[in-house]
Amino acid sequence: MIPFCDLKTQQLILKDNLDKRIATVLEHGQYIMGPEIQELEKRLSTFVGSKYALTCSSGTDAIQLVFMAMGLQPEDEVITTAFTFVSTVEVLALLKLKPVFVDINPDTFNLDIDQIEKKITSKTKAILAVSLFGQTPDMEKLETLSKKYGIKLIEDAAQSFGATFRSKKSCSFGYAGTTSFFPAKPLGCYGDGGAIMTNDESLFQTMSRIRSHGQSQKYKYSHIGVNGRMDTLQAAITLAKMDIFDEELLKRDAIAEQYTKGLSGIGSIKTPIVEKDCFSAWAQYSICVENRDDLIQFLANLKIPTAIYYPYPLHTQEAYLYLGYKTGDLPITEEISQKIVSLPFSPYLKAEDQTIIIEAIKRFYRC
Ligand SMILES: *Cc1c(COP(=O)(O)O)cnc(C)c1O
Repeated sequence: MIPFCDLKTQQLILKDNLDKRIATVLEHGQYIMGPEIQELEKRLSTFVGSKYALTCSSGTDAIQLVFMAMGLQPEDEVITTAFTFVSTVEVLALLKLKPVFVDINPDTFNLDIDQIEKKITSKTKAILAVSLFGQTPDMEKLETLSKKYGIKLIEDAAQSFGATFRSKKSCSFGYAGTTSFFPAKPLGCYGDGGAIMTNDESLFQTMSRIRSHGQSQKYKYSHIGVNGRMDTLQAAITLAKMDIFDEELLKRDAIAEQYTKGLSGIGSIKTPIVEKDCFSAWAQYSICVENRDDLIQFLANLKIPTAIYYPYPLHTQEAYLYLGYKTGDLPITEEISQKIVSLPFSPYLKAEDQTIIIEAIKRFYRC
């Protein structure tokens, strides 16, 4: 079986560094908020080019911390996409905010910026843009919109840590950028973890308190908070992985290019489009195809795994029907969710395996 996401090879490469990092934590014993947390936060903010970085327990909590710190009112509106992992929308719903969906751009699968303006009302407080599969939307256009209407721009960059838009890093735009260190993300730890990057000092201070039960001093609580800290061990692992992260981003890009070269013009396949100002972190390599289910079965028989991100758009999900959307409201989102399929991908995908995958897909389309 070709691995869908090869984490083993990376672990072998990093073994010594990981062992050393983990041993250090076991020695000092500060499992919660140990020195690796600050070290990682410093490293993340330097990498991204933001003033502050705050680690937290997951990419989901990262979004939640930002929206909790904003102190919004129930029914305040947040413009976002239904073509994303559920966290993006789940957090808004939990906080009694109202997700307002715009459709997506069929080339990038990110929210269609041209549709945002007509959704803005007096209750709109934020745009939550998702940088899907590793590529940001046009962050400059989004920053301009957010300034024009006095609403906050937040980037859900769970899939795009390491990406750039016009030489600025994903997570460095707008009010805040959130990311995830779930193992299969471009920068992953060995459990759950996440971070928020921002240039806003007051947001940073408030989120720091909320992350630790809303505590302002020991046993004094200024905010209603959560237990949202990242484990020291996970920070240590993430630090080890950052040593080779830039190299891995280049490997990801080269592997994506190989796929695109091999699959362009084959059958009905639409290979991913990276816009000219973007460098993608390639969280996934996703193609759009006709007769997807047959292709997936054909590849599965050859021990080639695939995945569908995402088969059911969020506005059609049972838990979110209360928002009042119906099938047909977001036609591009709905169409893409039936055509999209992601191929095995990691910086360590072997060239011979990639050739096997490309040749198998060509055979399926008989060319
Ligand atoms: C993975 C992901 C999240 C959530 O991250 P976790 O660390 O798993 O909580 C949020 N948004 C998007 C777009 C994601 O892909």
